[in-house]
Amino acid sequence: MSAFRHVEAVFFDIGGPLYDDGNFVDAVLTTLDELRAERSLPPADRDRFAEIYDETRNRQQGSLRSALAAEFLGDAGQRGLLHTRTGTHWTHPEGTLHSDVLPCLRELHGRVRIGVVANQEAAVVDALRRDGAEPYVDVWAVSGIVGVEKPDPELFAWALQEAGTTARHAVHVGNRLDTDVRPARALGLGTVWVLRGEAPPSPTAAQLAEPDTAVRDLTLLPDLLFRLPAPETVETSEAPETAETPEASEASEAVGDEGGPP
Ligand SMILES: [Mg+2]
Repeated sequence: MSAFRHVEAVFFDIGGPLYDDGNFVDAVLTTLDELRAERSLPPADRDRFAEIYDETRNRQQGSLRSALAAEFLGDAGQRGLLHTRTGTHWTHPEGTLHSDVLPCLRELHGRVRIGVVANQEAAVVDALRRDGAEPYVDVWAVSGIVGVEKPDPELFAWALQEAGTTARHAVHVGNRLDTDVRPARALGLGTVWVLRGEAPPSPTAAQLAEPDTAVRDLTLLPDLLFRLPAPETVETSEAPETAETPEASEASEAVGDEGGPP
């Protein structure tokens, strides 16, 4: 397992790690039905939607909105319209913040700068305030506020600057490979893949090898970030495995026996 070096900032994707991704599914289905009704078409077939959704999350690349636009609106070029209109229906109702979020944020608070780096509407800030998470967040790299979407490295660079640190000392926590793990890793941030929501239910060994580590939830995240040796020790040691705590071993087991990243 790769070491996280002297972590100064932790950035969270919002859909999946913090809020239930079902909120987005509800919004996009409502929008598809609305757009189809405007074309005198019946509501979108839920089974076909589920097939496309699962296929996209298993692949961890390609645009879900383009696939949905092609299937249900007859034109992938309607992706932009679908995207814009989905934004008007996309909310995070009370009760959809995952129960492990506040305990995790409380444990990280005061030890690192905490940020969100997310493709979300600006209103997500209100939801996080309502749910008690807002006081813990120092950096708000929300696409609806900053005007740049992941995987554009500009959003991560903006967050790093706001956090007053560098990629080397920051970790991104997200549930997608294409918009979270890969762009963060390309910039040199540490990466944690959270396997819920838009993450595949049964990731392949190759997918699990992409992030520094993968977890099923946020319960063990603080331990994973801070359990490792001091930076100078990490850089001269090839054997971080020996530093694993029982908790970290449980986290590795949680993603499957073959799932441990190198
Ligand atoms: Mg997400």
